[in-house]
Amino acid sequence: MNQSVQNPQPELSAIRQKMFIDGRFVDARSGKTLPVFNPATGAEIARVPDAQAEDVDAAVRSARATFESAAWQGMLPVERERLLLKLADLIEQHGEELARLETLNNGKLLMFSRMLEVGANAQWTRYMAGWATKIEGSTLDVSIPFPPGVRYTAMTRREPVGVVGAIVPWNFPLLMAMWKIAPALACGCTVVLKPAEETPLTALRLAELVMEAGFPAGAVNVVTGYGESAGAALVRHPGVNKIAFTGSTEVGKIIGRSCMDDMKRVSLELGGKSPVIVLDDCDPAVAVAGAAGAIFFNHGQVCTAGSRLLVHKSRYDQVLAGLASAAEATKLGDGFDETAQMGPMVSATHRDRVVRYIESGKAEGAELLAGGQAQPGSGYFVRPTVFSNTTGKDLTISREEIFGPVVVAMPFDDLDDVARKANDSRYGLGASIWTNNLTQAYRLIPKVQAGTVWLNCHNMVDPNLPFGGYKDSGVGREHGRAMIDVYTETKSVCVAY
Ligand code: NAP
Ligand code: MG
Repeated sequence: MNQSVQNPQPELSAIRQKMFIDGRFVDARSGKTLPVFNPATGAEIARVPDAQAEDVDAAVRSARATFESAAWQGMLPVERERLLLKLADLIEQHGEELARLETLNNGKLLMFSRMLEVGANAQWTRYMAGWATKIEGSTLDVSIPFPPGVRYTAMTRREPVGVVGAIVPWNFPLLMAMWKIAPALACGCTVVLKPAEETPLTALRLAELVMEAGFPAGAVNVVTGYGESAGAALVRHPGVNKIAFTGSTEVGKIIGRSCMDDMKRVSLELGGKSPVIVLDDCDPAVAVAGAAGAIFFNHGQVCTAGSRLLVHKSRYDQVLAGLASAAEATKLGDGFDETAQMGPMVSATHRDRVVRYIESGKAEGAELLAGGQAQPGSGYFVRPTVFSNTTGKDLTISREEIFGPVVVAMPFDDLDDVARKANDSRYGLGASIWTNNLTQAYRLIPKVQAGTVWLNCHNMVDPNLPFGGYKDSGVGREHGRAMIDVYTETKSVCVAY
Protein backbone atom coordinates (compact mmCIF):
# COMPACT_ATOMS: atom_id res chain seq x y z
CA MET A 1 0.00 0.00 0.00
CA ASN A 2 1.31 3.43 -0.87
CA GLN A 3 1.23 5.50 2.32
CA SER A 4 2.35 8.75 0.66
CA VAL A 5 -0.13 11.59 0.52
CA GLN A 6 1.00 13.85 -2.28
CA ASN A 7 0.09 17.50 -2.25
CA PRO A 8 -0.07 19.09 -5.70
CA GLN A 9 3.18 20.63 -6.94
CA PRO A 10 3.40 24.05 -8.60
CA GLU A 11 3.10 24.38 -12.35
CA LEU A 12 6.64 24.51 -13.74
CA SER A 13 5.48 26.86 -16.49
CA ALA A 14 4.63 29.50 -13.85
CA ILE A 15 8.21 29.69 -12.53
CA ARG A 16 10.06 32.96 -13.15
CA GLN A 17 13.30 32.06 -14.92
CA LYS A 18 14.83 35.49 -15.37
CA MET A 19 16.43 37.80 -12.87
CA PHE A 20 14.91 41.03 -11.65
CA ILE A 21 16.76 44.26 -12.40
CA ASP A 22 15.30 47.76 -12.34
CA GLY A 23 11.75 46.47 -12.12
CA ARG A 24 11.99 44.07 -15.07
CA PHE A 25 12.74 40.40 -15.60
CA VAL A 26 15.91 40.12 -17.72
CA ASP A 27 18.40 37.54 -18.96
CA ALA A 28 22.12 37.68 -18.24
CA ARG A 29 23.81 39.82 -20.90
CA SER A 30 26.00 36.84 -21.75
CA GLY A 31 22.86 34.72 -22.20
CA LYS A 32 24.34 32.14 -19.82
CA THR A 33 22.05 30.23 -17.46
CA LEU A 34 22.42 27.82 -14.57
CA PRO A 35 20.21 24.83 -13.74
CA VAL A 36 17.89 24.61 -10.73
CA PHE A 37 16.91 21.20 -9.34
CA ASN A 38 14.20 19.55 -7.26
CA PRO A 39 16.30 17.92 -4.50
CA ALA A 40 13.63 15.30 -3.75
CA THR A 41 13.91 13.83 -7.26
CA GLY A 42 17.09 15.26 -8.80
CA ALA A 43 15.03 16.59 -11.75
CA GLU A 44 15.93 19.92 -13.35
CA ILE A 45 12.99 22.29 -12.81
CA ALA A 46 14.24 25.62 -14.17
CA ARG A 47 17.14 27.56 -15.58
CA VAL A 48 17.95 31.03 -14.28
CA PRO A 49 20.45 33.63 -15.51
CA ASP A 50 24.09 33.10 -14.59
CA ALA A 51 24.81 36.75 -13.73
CA GLN A 52 28.28 38.15 -14.34
CA ALA A 53 29.87 41.42 -13.21
CA GLU A 54 28.12 43.43 -15.95
CA ASP A 55 24.69 42.24 -14.78
CA VAL A 56 25.54 42.98 -11.16
CA ASP A 57 26.67 46.43 -12.28
CA ALA A 58 23.26 47.06 -13.90
CA ALA A 59 21.48 45.98 -10.71
CA VAL A 60 23.68 48.17 -8.49
CA ARG A 61 23.21 51.16 -10.79
CA SER A 62 19.45 50.70 -10.56
CA ALA A 63 19.52 50.43 -6.76
CA ARG A 64 21.81 53.48 -6.58
CA ALA A 65 19.64 55.59 -8.92
CA THR A 66 16.53 54.72 -6.91
CA PHE A 67 18.28 55.42 -3.62
CA GLU A 68 19.44 58.84 -4.81
CA SER A 69 16.16 59.79 -6.50
CA ALA A 70 14.18 62.70 -5.09
CA ALA A 71 11.15 60.46 -4.74
CA TRP A 72 13.01 57.94 -2.56
CA GLN A 73 14.83 60.54 -0.50
CA GLY A 74 11.58 62.39 0.04
CA MET A 75 9.51 59.33 0.93
CA LEU A 76 8.07 59.69 4.42
CA PRO A 77 8.89 56.93 6.90
CA VAL A 78 5.18 56.25 7.29
CA GLU A 79 4.99 55.56 3.55
CA ARG A 80 7.80 52.97 3.77
CA GLU A 81 5.87 51.42 6.64
CA ARG A 82 2.69 51.29 4.58
CA LEU A 83 4.46 49.69 1.61
CA LEU A 84 6.09 47.05 3.81
CA LEU A 85 2.74 46.25 5.43
CA LYS A 86 1.26 45.84 1.95
CA LEU A 87 4.15 43.55 1.03
CA ALA A 88 3.45 41.40 4.11
CA ASP A 89 -0.18 41.09 3.00
CA LEU A 90 0.90 40.10 -0.51
CA ILE A 91 3.27 37.44 0.87
CA GLU A 92 0.32 35.95 2.75
CA GLN A 93 -2.06 36.26 -0.19
CA HIS A 94 0.41 34.40 -2.40
CA GLY A 95 1.51 32.21 0.51
CA GLU A 96 0.43 28.87 -0.88
CA GLU A 97 2.15 29.54 -4.22
CA LEU A 98 5.35 30.68 -2.46
CA ALA A 99 5.33 27.74 -0.03
CA ARG A 100 4.93 25.19 -2.82
CA LEU A 101 7.64 26.82 -4.88
CA GLU A 102 9.99 26.71 -1.88
CA THR A 103 9.31 23.05 -1.17
CA LEU A 104 9.84 22.20 -4.84
CA ASN A 105 13.17 24.05 -4.96
CA ASN A 106 14.57 23.47 -1.46
CA GLY A 107 13.00 20.13 -0.51
CA LYS A 108 11.75 21.15 2.93
CA LEU A 109 8.44 19.83 4.22
CA LEU A 110 5.52 21.87 2.89
CA MET A 111 4.34 22.42 6.47
CA PHE A 112 7.57 24.30 7.25
CA SER A 113 7.49 26.25 4.00
CA ARG A 114 4.04 27.47 4.98
CA MET A 115 4.96 28.15 8.60
CA LEU A 116 8.36 29.78 8.14
CA GLU A 117 9.07 30.87 4.59
CA VAL A 118 5.60 32.43 4.41
CA GLY A 119 4.10 32.79 7.92
CA ALA A 120 7.19 33.92 9.81
CA ASN A 121 8.24 35.93 6.78
CA ALA A 122 5.04 38.01 6.82
CA GLN A 123 5.43 38.46 10.59
CA TRP A 124 9.03 39.66 10.09
CA THR A 125 7.99 42.08 7.39
CA ARG A 126 5.25 43.60 9.57
CA TYR A 127 7.60 43.91 12.53
CA MET A 128 10.25 45.67 10.41
CA ALA A 129 7.56 47.91 8.86
CA GLY A 130 6.93 49.27 12.36
CA TRP A 131 10.56 50.32 12.75
CA ALA A 132 10.41 52.61 9.70
CA THR A 133 8.65 55.26 11.81
CA LYS A 134 10.64 54.66 14.99
CA ILE A 135 14.23 55.32 13.96
CA GLU A 136 15.63 57.96 16.29
CA GLY A 137 18.80 59.72 17.40
CA SER A 138 19.64 61.48 20.66
CA THR A 139 20.34 64.97 21.91
CA LEU A 140 23.63 65.19 23.73
CA ASP A 141 25.26 67.55 26.18
CA VAL A 142 28.83 68.39 25.14
CA SER A 143 31.63 70.16 27.08
CA ILE A 144 33.44 72.15 24.39
CA PRO A 145 34.96 75.13 26.29
CA PHE A 146 36.01 77.48 23.46
CA PRO A 147 35.88 80.11 22.12
CA PRO A 148 34.81 81.89 25.29
CA GLY A 149 31.14 82.77 25.39
CA VAL A 150 30.04 80.22 22.78
CA ARG A 151 27.77 77.37 23.84
CA TYR A 152 27.09 74.12 22.08
CA THR A 153 24.49 71.44 21.80
CA ALA A 154 24.58 68.24 19.75
CA MET A 155 22.38 65.54 18.32
CA THR A 156 22.70 62.32 16.38
CA ARG A 157 20.79 61.36 13.26
CA ARG A 158 20.40 57.87 11.84
CA GLU A 159 20.70 57.87 8.07
CA PRO A 160 20.23 54.92 5.70
CA VAL A 161 23.55 53.29 4.89
CA GLY A 162 22.69 53.35 1.16
CA VAL A 163 22.73 50.50 -1.33
CA VAL A 164 22.80 47.13 0.43
CA GLY A 165 24.25 44.03 -1.22
CA ALA A 166 22.48 41.07 0.41
CA ILE A 167 23.95 37.59 -0.05
CA VAL A 168 22.02 34.66 1.40
CA PRO A 169 22.20 30.84 1.69
CA TRP A 170 19.81 28.12 0.58
CA ASN A 171 18.50 26.70 3.87
CA PHE A 172 15.61 29.18 4.36
CA PRO A 173 15.68 30.92 0.98
CA LEU A 174 12.70 33.25 1.21
CA LEU A 175 13.03 33.95 4.93
CA MET A 176 16.75 34.72 4.70
CA ALA A 177 16.07 37.06 1.77
CA MET A 178 13.44 38.93 3.78
CA TRP A 179 15.63 39.04 6.90
CA LYS A 180 17.80 41.41 4.83
CA ILE A 181 15.27 43.13 2.57
CA ALA A 182 12.67 44.13 5.19
CA PRO A 183 15.00 45.92 7.65
CA ALA A 184 16.99 47.48 4.79
CA LEU A 185 13.83 48.98 3.26
CA ALA A 186 12.51 50.01 6.69
CA CYS A 187 15.72 52.00 7.24
CA GLY A 188 15.45 53.65 3.80
CA CYS A 189 18.08 51.60 1.94
CA THR A 190 17.73 49.96 -1.47
CA VAL A 191 18.85 46.39 -2.13
CA VAL A 192 20.57 44.07 -4.57
CA LEU A 193 19.95 40.49 -3.43
CA LYS A 194 21.96 37.47 -4.55
CA PRO A 195 20.13 34.31 -3.53
CA ALA A 196 21.96 30.99 -3.32
CA GLU A 197 22.62 29.31 -6.66
CA GLU A 198 20.57 26.29 -5.52
CA THR A 199 17.42 28.20 -4.46
CA PRO A 200 16.72 31.37 -6.47
CA LEU A 201 13.06 30.76 -7.32
CA THR A 202 11.09 32.27 -4.43
CA ALA A 203 13.30 35.39 -4.35
CA LEU A 204 12.38 36.08 -7.99
CA ARG A 205 8.68 35.86 -7.21
CA LEU A 206 9.22 38.02 -4.11
CA ALA A 207 10.83 40.76 -6.23
CA GLU A 208 7.62 41.00 -8.24
CA LEU A 209 5.57 41.28 -5.07
CA VAL A 210 7.83 44.11 -3.85
CA MET A 211 6.88 46.05 -6.98
CA GLU A 212 3.21 45.11 -6.63
CA ALA A 213 3.29 46.49 -3.07
CA GLY A 214 4.19 49.86 -4.59
CA PHE A 215 7.96 50.14 -4.11
CA PRO A 216 9.64 51.85 -7.07
CA ALA A 217 11.70 49.94 -9.65
CA GLY A 218 15.24 49.47 -8.32
CA ALA A 219 14.28 49.37 -4.65
CA VAL A 220 14.89 45.62 -4.68
CA ASN A 221 16.85 43.89 -7.45
CA VAL A 222 17.58 40.16 -7.56
CA VAL A 223 20.65 38.84 -9.40
CA THR A 224 20.90 35.07 -9.80
CA GLY A 225 24.28 33.42 -10.19
CA TYR A 226 27.25 31.85 -8.50
CA GLY A 227 29.00 33.21 -5.44
CA GLU A 228 32.43 33.36 -7.03
CA SER A 229 31.13 35.48 -9.94
CA ALA A 230 27.88 37.34 -9.13
CA GLY A 231 28.43 37.34 -5.35
CA ALA A 232 32.04 38.49 -5.54
CA ALA A 233 31.13 41.22 -8.07
CA LEU A 234 28.49 42.54 -5.68
CA VAL A 235 30.96 42.57 -2.78
CA ARG A 236 33.56 44.47 -4.80
CA HIS A 237 31.18 46.92 -6.49
CA PRO A 238 31.99 50.54 -5.52
CA GLY A 239 28.31 51.49 -5.76
CA VAL A 240 27.42 49.19 -2.85
CA ASN A 241 27.67 50.76 0.61
CA LYS A 242 27.10 47.69 2.70
CA ILE A 243 27.18 43.91 2.44
CA ALA A 244 24.75 41.92 4.58
CA PHE A 245 25.87 38.30 4.38
CA THR A 246 24.50 35.05 5.74
CA GLY A 247 26.43 31.89 4.94
CA SER A 248 29.47 29.87 5.85
CA THR A 249 32.32 31.16 7.98
CA GLU A 250 34.75 30.32 5.19
CA VAL A 251 33.01 32.60 2.66
CA GLY A 252 32.20 35.17 5.37
CA LYS A 253 35.90 35.65 6.04
CA ILE A 254 36.63 36.21 2.34
CA ILE A 255 33.81 38.77 2.13
CA GLY A 256 34.82 40.46 5.39
CA ARG A 257 38.40 40.93 4.17
CA SER A 258 37.24 42.31 0.84
CA CYS A 259 34.84 44.75 2.54
CA MET A 260 37.61 45.98 4.85
CA ASP A 261 39.81 46.73 1.83
CA ASP A 262 37.07 49.01 0.50
CA MET A 263 35.86 50.22 3.93
CA LYS A 264 32.45 48.87 3.04
CA ARG A 265 30.08 48.25 5.93
CA VAL A 266 29.58 44.53 6.51
CA SER A 267 27.54 42.27 8.77
CA LEU A 268 28.21 38.54 8.85
CA GLU A 269 25.84 35.81 10.05
CA LEU A 270 27.92 32.66 9.80
CA GLY A 271 28.11 29.01 10.73
CA GLY A 272 27.65 27.17 14.00
CA LYS A 273 28.26 23.98 15.96
CA SER A 274 25.68 24.61 18.64
CA PRO A 275 25.55 22.52 21.81
CA VAL A 276 22.38 21.02 23.31
CA ILE A 277 23.01 20.68 27.05
CA VAL A 278 20.86 18.23 29.04
CA LEU A 279 21.22 18.67 32.82
CA ASP A 280 20.74 15.88 35.35
CA ASP A 281 17.16 16.77 36.35
CA CYS A 282 15.76 16.80 32.80
CA ASP A 283 13.06 14.25 31.97
CA PRO A 284 14.76 11.95 29.41
CA ALA A 285 11.66 11.95 27.17
CA VAL A 286 11.75 15.77 27.03
CA ALA A 287 15.49 15.66 26.33
CA VAL A 288 15.05 13.17 23.46
CA ALA A 289 12.31 15.23 21.79
CA GLY A 290 14.32 18.43 22.32
CA ALA A 291 17.59 17.01 21.00
CA ALA A 292 15.86 15.42 17.99
CA GLY A 293 14.13 18.68 17.08
CA ALA A 294 17.35 20.66 17.58
CA ILE A 295 19.35 18.61 15.05
CA PHE A 296 16.80 17.09 12.66
CA PHE A 297 14.60 20.16 12.02
CA ASN A 298 15.06 21.29 8.38
CA HIS A 299 17.21 18.14 7.94
CA GLY A 300 19.96 19.68 10.06
CA GLN A 301 20.43 22.47 7.51
CA VAL A 302 20.12 25.17 10.16
CA CYS A 303 22.91 27.51 11.26
CA THR A 304 21.91 26.99 14.91
CA ALA A 305 21.35 23.20 14.54
CA GLY A 306 22.02 21.40 17.82
CA SER A 307 24.82 19.33 16.34
CA ARG A 308 26.69 18.64 19.60
CA LEU A 309 24.70 16.86 22.32
CA LEU A 310 26.05 17.08 25.87
CA VAL A 311 24.11 14.96 28.37
CA HIS A 312 24.74 14.57 32.10
CA LYS A 313 26.36 11.17 32.67
CA SER A 314 23.42 10.02 34.84
CA ARG A 315 21.02 10.37 31.86
CA TYR A 316 23.39 9.72 28.98
CA ASP A 317 22.59 6.12 28.01
CA GLN A 318 18.83 6.62 28.29
CA VAL A 319 18.79 9.83 26.23
CA LEU A 320 21.09 8.42 23.54
CA ALA A 321 19.02 5.23 23.21
CA GLY A 322 15.85 7.31 22.84
CA LEU A 323 17.43 9.64 20.27
CA ALA A 324 18.78 6.71 18.23
CA SER A 325 15.35 5.09 18.04
CA ALA A 326 13.72 8.42 17.11
CA ALA A 327 16.29 8.77 14.31
CA GLU A 328 15.73 5.22 13.06
CA ALA A 329 11.94 5.73 13.05
CA THR A 330 12.09 8.94 10.97
CA LYS A 331 10.37 8.70 7.59
CA LEU A 332 12.27 10.45 4.81
CA GLY A 333 10.37 11.69 1.81
CA ASP A 334 9.44 14.39 -0.66
CA GLY A 335 8.37 17.62 1.06
CA PHE A 336 5.01 17.34 -0.73
CA ASP A 337 4.37 13.97 0.97
CA GLU A 338 2.31 14.75 4.08
CA THR A 339 3.55 11.60 5.82
CA ALA A 340 7.25 12.47 5.41
CA GLN A 341 9.05 13.69 8.53
CA MET A 342 12.28 14.79 6.89
CA GLY A 343 13.15 15.90 3.36
CA PRO A 344 16.31 15.74 1.27
CA MET A 345 19.59 17.64 1.46
CA VAL A 346 19.48 20.68 -0.82
CA SER A 347 21.82 19.33 -3.52
CA ALA A 348 23.74 16.25 -4.61
CA THR A 349 26.97 18.08 -3.76
CA HIS A 350 25.78 18.82 -0.25
CA ARG A 351 24.51 15.25 0.27
CA ASP A 352 27.93 13.93 -0.72
CA ARG A 353 29.60 16.37 1.66
CA VAL A 354 27.41 15.23 4.57
CA VAL A 355 28.10 11.57 3.74
CA ARG A 356 31.85 12.27 3.68
CA TYR A 357 31.57 13.69 7.20
CA ILE A 358 29.67 10.59 8.33
CA GLU A 359 32.38 8.34 6.85
CA SER A 360 35.07 10.37 8.61
CA GLY A 361 33.21 9.90 11.92
CA LYS A 362 33.23 6.13 11.44
CA ALA A 363 36.89 6.11 10.36
CA GLU A 364 38.05 8.32 13.25
CA GLY A 365 36.47 6.05 15.88
CA ALA A 366 33.07 7.52 16.84
CA GLU A 367 30.38 4.97 17.66
CA LEU A 368 27.47 4.99 15.20
CA LEU A 369 24.11 4.54 16.96
CA ALA A 370 21.71 5.37 14.11
CA GLY A 371 21.67 6.25 10.40
CA GLY A 372 25.08 6.54 8.86
CA GLN A 373 24.34 6.61 5.15
CA ALA A 374 22.56 8.27 2.26
CA GLN A 375 19.21 6.79 1.27
CA PRO A 376 19.49 5.07 -2.12
CA GLY A 377 17.40 6.56 -4.91
CA SER A 378 17.22 9.64 -7.06
CA GLY A 379 16.67 12.32 -4.38
CA TYR A 380 19.41 13.67 -2.12
CA PHE A 381 18.37 11.99 1.14
CA VAL A 382 20.60 11.26 4.14
CA ARG A 383 19.43 9.14 7.08
CA PRO A 384 19.35 10.98 10.45
CA THR A 385 22.59 9.99 12.12
CA VAL A 386 23.66 9.75 15.78
CA PHE A 387 27.28 9.34 16.90
CA SER A 388 28.32 8.57 20.47
CA ASN A 389 31.58 7.78 22.28
CA THR A 390 33.28 10.93 21.11
CA THR A 391 34.86 12.14 24.39
CA GLY A 392 38.58 12.88 24.25
CA LYS A 393 38.82 12.13 20.52
CA ASP A 394 39.88 14.75 18.02
CA LEU A 395 37.04 14.13 15.57
CA THR A 396 36.38 16.15 12.43
CA ILE A 397 32.63 15.66 13.01
CA SER A 398 32.91 17.27 16.47
CA ARG A 399 34.82 20.30 15.18
CA GLU A 400 33.37 21.18 11.78
CA GLU A 401 29.90 22.32 10.80
CA ILE A 402 28.25 19.47 8.86
CA PHE A 403 24.97 21.28 8.10
CA GLY A 404 23.09 17.99 7.90
CA PRO A 405 21.16 15.59 10.17
CA VAL A 406 24.22 14.41 12.08
CA VAL A 407 24.64 14.76 15.86
CA VAL A 408 27.73 14.02 17.93
CA ALA A 409 27.12 13.17 21.62
CA MET A 410 29.23 13.03 24.76
CA PRO A 411 28.51 12.86 28.52
CA PHE A 412 29.58 15.42 31.13
CA ASP A 413 30.12 15.46 34.92
CA ASP A 414 29.17 18.91 36.23
CA LEU A 415 28.52 22.53 35.20
CA ASP A 416 32.20 23.45 34.84
CA ASP A 417 32.80 20.37 32.71
CA VAL A 418 29.83 21.07 30.43
CA ALA A 419 30.70 24.78 30.06
CA ARG A 420 34.22 23.78 28.99
CA LYS A 421 32.89 21.20 26.52
CA ALA A 422 30.20 23.55 25.15
CA ASN A 423 32.80 26.27 24.54
CA ASP A 424 35.33 23.89 22.98
CA SER A 425 34.45 25.11 19.48
CA ARG A 426 35.50 27.92 17.19
CA TYR A 427 31.80 28.70 16.72
CA GLY A 428 29.43 30.47 19.11
CA LEU A 429 26.04 30.91 17.46
CA GLY A 430 23.47 29.16 19.65
CA ALA A 431 23.13 26.79 22.61
CA SER A 432 20.25 25.23 24.49
CA ILE A 433 19.99 24.13 28.11
CA TRP A 434 17.38 21.59 29.15
CA THR A 435 16.50 21.72 32.85
CA ASN A 436 13.90 22.86 35.37
CA ASN A 437 16.62 23.76 37.85
CA LEU A 438 16.78 27.54 37.51
CA THR A 439 19.81 27.85 39.76
CA GLN A 440 21.86 25.60 37.49
CA ALA A 441 20.46 27.25 34.35
CA TYR A 442 21.22 30.79 35.51
CA ARG A 443 24.74 29.78 36.55
CA LEU A 444 25.38 28.21 33.18
CA ILE A 445 23.92 30.88 30.87
CA PRO A 446 26.74 33.44 31.43
CA LYS A 447 29.41 30.77 30.95
CA VAL A 448 28.19 29.69 27.50
CA GLN A 449 29.82 31.56 24.60
CA ALA A 450 26.89 31.90 22.20
CA GLY A 451 24.86 34.69 20.61
CA THR A 452 21.61 33.01 21.69
CA VAL A 453 20.97 30.66 24.63
CA TRP A 454 17.64 28.83 24.70
CA LEU A 455 16.24 27.37 27.89
CA ASN A 456 14.02 24.31 27.29
CA CYS A 457 13.70 25.11 23.59
CA HIS A 458 16.04 25.33 20.57
CA ASN A 459 16.12 27.10 17.19
CA MET A 460 13.45 29.62 18.28
CA VAL A 461 13.87 33.01 16.61
CA ASP A 462 11.76 36.15 16.65
CA PRO A 463 11.99 39.49 14.82
CA ASN A 464 12.29 41.28 18.18
CA LEU A 465 15.20 39.10 19.38
CA PRO A 466 18.73 40.13 18.37
CA PHE A 467 20.44 37.31 16.48
CA GLY A 468 24.11 36.74 15.70
CA GLY A 469 27.24 34.97 16.73
CA TYR A 470 30.18 34.96 19.11
CA LYS A 471 33.60 33.90 17.81
CA ASP A 472 33.67 32.50 14.25
CA SER A 473 29.87 32.61 14.01
CA GLY A 474 29.85 36.19 12.82
CA VAL A 475 30.00 39.93 13.31
CA GLY A 476 26.98 42.09 14.19
CA ARG A 477 23.41 41.40 15.28
CA GLU A 478 20.31 41.26 13.10
CA HIS A 479 16.67 41.77 14.09
CA GLY A 480 15.13 43.85 16.84
CA ARG A 481 16.47 47.31 17.51
CA ALA A 482 19.93 45.92 16.76
CA MET A 483 19.15 45.94 13.02
CA ILE A 484 19.25 49.75 13.01
CA ASP A 485 23.02 49.55 13.62
CA VAL A 486 23.29 47.28 10.59
CA TYR A 487 21.38 49.41 8.08
CA THR A 488 22.11 53.00 9.16
CA GLU A 489 25.06 55.32 9.66
CA THR A 490 25.14 57.58 12.72
CA LYS A 491 25.72 61.25 11.98
CA SER A 492 26.70 63.57 14.84
CA VAL A 493 25.51 67.16 14.46
CA CYS A 494 27.24 69.79 16.60
CA VAL A 495 25.56 73.20 16.93
CA ALA A 496 27.20 76.36 18.28
CA TYR A 497 24.96 79.12 19.61
P1 NAP B 1 27.95 29.68 1.51
O1 NAP B 1 28.58 28.66 0.67
O2 NAP B 1 28.82 30.51 2.39
O3 NAP B 1 27.11 30.61 0.53
C1 NAP B 1 26.29 31.64 1.00
C2 NAP B 1 26.08 32.63 -0.12
O4 NAP B 1 27.33 33.26 -0.45
C3 NAP B 1 25.60 31.99 -1.42
O5 NAP B 1 24.70 32.87 -2.05
C4 NAP B 1 26.90 31.85 -2.18
O6 NAP B 1 26.77 31.69 -3.56
C5 NAP B 1 27.59 33.12 -1.83
N1 NAP B 1 29.04 33.10 -2.07
C6 NAP B 1 29.88 32.04 -2.13
N2 NAP B 1 31.15 32.45 -2.36
C7 NAP B 1 31.12 33.80 -2.46
C8 NAP B 1 32.10 34.80 -2.69
N3 NAP B 1 33.38 34.49 -2.86
N4 NAP B 1 31.71 36.10 -2.72
C9 NAP B 1 30.41 36.43 -2.53
N5 NAP B 1 29.43 35.52 -2.31
C10 NAP B 1 29.77 34.22 -2.26
O7 NAP B 1 26.84 29.05 2.46
P2 NAP B 1 25.70 28.03 2.06
O8 NAP B 1 26.31 26.70 1.82
O9 NAP B 1 24.84 28.63 1.01
O10 NAP B 1 24.84 28.01 3.43
C11 NAP B 1 25.21 27.29 4.53
C12 NAP B 1 25.98 28.12 5.52
O11 NAP B 1 25.23 29.27 5.91
C13 NAP B 1 26.26 27.40 6.81
O12 NAP B 1 27.58 27.63 7.23
C14 NAP B 1 25.28 28.00 7.79
O13 NAP B 1 25.64 27.89 9.13
C15 NAP B 1 25.23 29.41 7.33
N6 NAP B 1 24.01 30.08 7.80
C16 NAP B 1 24.12 31.02 8.79
C17 NAP B 1 22.99 31.64 9.30
C18 NAP B 1 23.09 32.68 10.38
O14 NAP B 1 22.16 33.49 10.50
N7 NAP B 1 24.14 32.76 11.16
C19 NAP B 1 21.73 31.31 8.79
C20 NAP B 1 21.65 30.34 7.79
C21 NAP B 1 22.81 29.74 7.30
P3 NAP B 1 26.54 30.22 -4.19
O15 NAP B 1 25.09 30.09 -4.19
O16 NAP B 1 27.14 30.17 -5.52
O17 NAP B 1 27.19 29.23 -3.27
MG1 MG C 1 26.72 27.55 -2.20
